[in-house]
Amino acid sequence: MNEFAVDRRTFDDVMVPVFSPAPFIPVRGQGSRVWDSQGRDYVDFTGGIAVTALGHAHPELVRVLREQGERLWHVSNAYTNEPVLRLAKRLEALTFAERAFFANSGAEANEAALKLARRVAVERHGAEKFEIVSFAQSFHGRTLFTVSVGGQPKYAEGFGPVPPGIRHLPYNDIAAAREAIGPQTCAVIVEPIQGEGGVIPADPAFLRALREACDAHGAVLIFDEVQTGVGRTGHFYAYMDTGVTPDILTTAKALGNGFPIGAMLTTKELAAHFKVGVHGTTYGGNPLGAAIADKVVELVSDPALLEGVKRRGATLISRLDALGKRFGLFKEIRGKGLLIGAELTTAYEGRAKDFVNAAAEHGLMLLIAGPNVLRFAPSLIIADADLDEGLRRLEKAIEQVAGASAEASQAASATNVAAR
Ligand SMILES: *Cc1c(COP(=O)(O)O)cnc(C)c1O
Repeated sequence: MNEFAVDRRTFDDVMVPVFSPAPFIPVRGQGSRVWDSQGRDYVDFTGGIAVTALGHAHPELVRVLREQGERLWHVSNAYTNEPVLRLAKRLEALTFAERAFFANSGAEANEAALKLARRVAVERHGAEKFEIVSFAQSFHGRTLFTVSVGGQPKYAEGFGPVPPGIRHLPYNDIAAAREAIGPQTCAVIVEPIQGEGGVIPADPAFLRALREACDAHGAVLIFDEVQTGVGRTGHFYAYMDTGVTPDILTTAKALGNGFPIGAMLTTKELAAHFKVGVHGTTYGGNPLGAAIADKVVELVSDPALLEGVKRRGATLISRLDALGKRFGLFKEIRGKGLLIGAELTTAYEGRAKDFVNAAAEHGLMLLIAGPNVLRFAPSLIIADADLDEGLRRLEKAIEQVAGASAEASQAASATNVAAR
């Protein structure tokens, strides 16, 4: 056997064990179908965690990757490049933003946003205005600053002291936000829909209250749209459907459809507080990533595509609702566009992962968002036939888990009868 032959077991021998990947290894994808190293096919309802918005191997993206790949990959930020300038222009034409900073991930985009907010507050108001307000269950990335700002303490524990000046409030709690946001607040960071936290949409009145409190106290409002952005909700960015405009927006995940790129978008006035040398990156805004993202943004911002997201989302919700009713499975189905969370009833409490495992056995890639929520984030252009087939496979997976539970509870009650 080739000494570099690999299979799933190799992972445990060669990788830092921060992940626990599925038992199969995907090797090829086309649209919303993926094949593993054994040749089995899967319907992809995960979209690489809301990343592959245009599916796998989209022909136009492959073409841009090839063309730019043969032309220029990287020159460093000692030089600018044409693709990144076109991408910035395109994003700014679509949004409130007038300036862009490019990075390689969502965490880095948030890191830039939080550093900018701190810099703005220090320069405009002085060193005392440094408090960052964030929300319970929020997720903003895995750097030390972003895990500290994120509202899931388990991600920040065990790494020594976290940066000071961060407060966590309950999400969607207007009174708590009004009370906490004050003269000491430099920034409020919020996801318009909490993705990792369980697919929990923000109440529009809550976002309006944050906007008002930030305005009243000279704080910067940051929307983390790393998961909700680039068409995911049926709007190019989720803020566009809330009536609230942030001062800084962070975006990544679907921006490169799998090519690593992130961005911080902001206004001209705020951007002016980041002067030459104050912040930076080696790869951020490289021509290869920027060319791909430019094509992604061009394709996803098409109003017909965004309408398609809403239509598919509505179909998915109604089909999930029917499935849930049949099996007494879901307490609530929520979200927007093609970011949908289905929360399990108490009968299945804590068992989201069992459904993901069963789904894989039936040829379906599925996500969780915490222990009680099944998360759906398929390609924004998933074919109706793939959506159908994925739901058929989901039904089989549900039958398997629910059937096993029914047998287990029958066995348990049989034991009880016997015991009596
Ligand atoms: C995924 C995610 C991040 C982190 O992005 P990375 O590219 O993994 O660093 C940040 N914020 C939100 C809302 C996310 O969903």
